[in-house]
Amino acid sequence: MPASDELDAVLSHIEENTDRIVSDLQELCRQKSISTTHIGIDEMAALILERLERAGLEATIHKTGGHPIVTGRLTGAGAKTLLFYNHYDVQPLDPLDEWTSPPFEANVVDGYVVARGATDNKGNIISRLAAFEAFLAVRGELPCSVMYIIEGEEEIGSPSLLPFINENKDMLSVDGCIWEDTFREDVPVLSLGNKGLCYLELRCRTANVDFHSSHAQIYENAAWRLNWALASMKGSDEKVLVEGFYDDVTPLTEKEEELVRLMKPYDGAERKKKFDLRRLALDLPDEELPRRHLTNPSFNIAGMDAGYTGEGVKTIVSGRARAKIDCRLVVDQDPEKIRDCVRRHLDRHGFEDIEVELLFKSLPAKSDPESITVKACQEASRRVYDAEAVINPFGSGSTPTWMVIRNLGIPLVGTGVGYITARTHSANENLKVEHLINGAKYMAAICESFGNA
Ligand SMILES: [Zn+2]
Repeated sequence: MPASDELDAVLSHIEENTDRIVSDLQELCRQKSISTTHIGIDEMAALILERLERAGLEATIHKTGGHPIVTGRLTGAGAKTLLFYNHYDVQPLDPLDEWTSPPFEANVVDGYVVARGATDNKGNIISRLAAFEAFLAVRGELPCSVMYIIEGEEEIGSPSLLPFINENKDMLSVDGCIWEDTFREDVPVLSLGNKGLCYLELRCRTANVDFHSSHAQIYENAAWRLNWALASMKGSDEKVLVEGFYDDVTPLTEKEEELVRLMKPYDGAERKKKFDLRRLALDLPDEELPRRHLTNPSFNIAGMDAGYTGEGVKTIVSGRARAKIDCRLVVDQDPEKIRDCVRRHLDRHGFEDIEVELLFKSLPAKSDPESITVKACQEASRRVYDAEAVINPFGSGSTPTWMVIRNLGIPLVGTGVGYITARTHSANENLKVEHLINGAKYMAAICESFGNA
């Protein structure tokens, strides 16, 4: 029988097993696994191990300095190995009173599984396992070998993942990687990278106390001083004025330029209405928004505090002020170099006294838009969704994909299940059953194309 008919049998098997796949998702969602408060983590790791074994993988729990990482391996027909990445931890539940169905009961409500983790990321785990199980049931083997990493610290910044990857490079010698991502506008998105993050805290201290504001004429105010420093760093034209900030921004390749041109404009008017936005930065037209959003670094004030900000009136001169700055970086900017640029900028502009601390960093990365992993996802999208996948050559978030792209040097694609309406990280997180089943078929088709590539 031709290969496509054979895949049809696998896809039909997934469809026929819808009820079981949904109950598999409910099983994972009912086990709590909130990484930030360490709730249910060990139990969840044990369940993942058992679940991988049940799906036919040879599974191991690896201790780390933080939460355990679970791996699975399954040898398939082809010579190639595809690495899958997911995480078993979830976000906290707040605000709890907004949930209309209890977050760990994982009830099916009007065709949606409603639970913390339904999409982020347990639905993605189940879609992949369902694909593997269907191949084993129909054909007795997968079209390619599979290596699976499921970590338990994604929602708290993946602190143990990089050391794990660096210590296990032999085990992770693979030919491609499927990361996680969600869907947009009825077609899969293929995210080929991630932005870096440079998170800085700036601290200004002009006195060891706050003063009565009748002395404002003679005492220097830390809030003003920090504001002057910040104002020197970015113009109202949105250009970052920190010397050297843009030095390592690499120009787009021809292929990337082509992909950016193909991107659908954002709907600025709709966003303005929905979020009651006064305006978009620079009043950019819709067609320029994707380029600006995806290919430009940012220099953002995430928060500031100084003086009195409570109810009513209190008259003081601030002796201390603090600002948090987050910069989303593009290839090949480096967070430590950016920190150094900010330090030099402050010194040059007479703000030597303002302290700068790098609180968090992650690196930017991007993967080849013409790799076999991308091609496998494109073929799978046509096959299952009858649509061309949207390629995002950069990725917009600061995920740990760089650890795989930069440290393992393999082509990576972030893609998976879950829509913008899946309310990940919010109350009433959900996954539509239909999306879960289509996602499983999509993963099966990816394995097939990757195995045949
Ligand atoms: Zn998340």
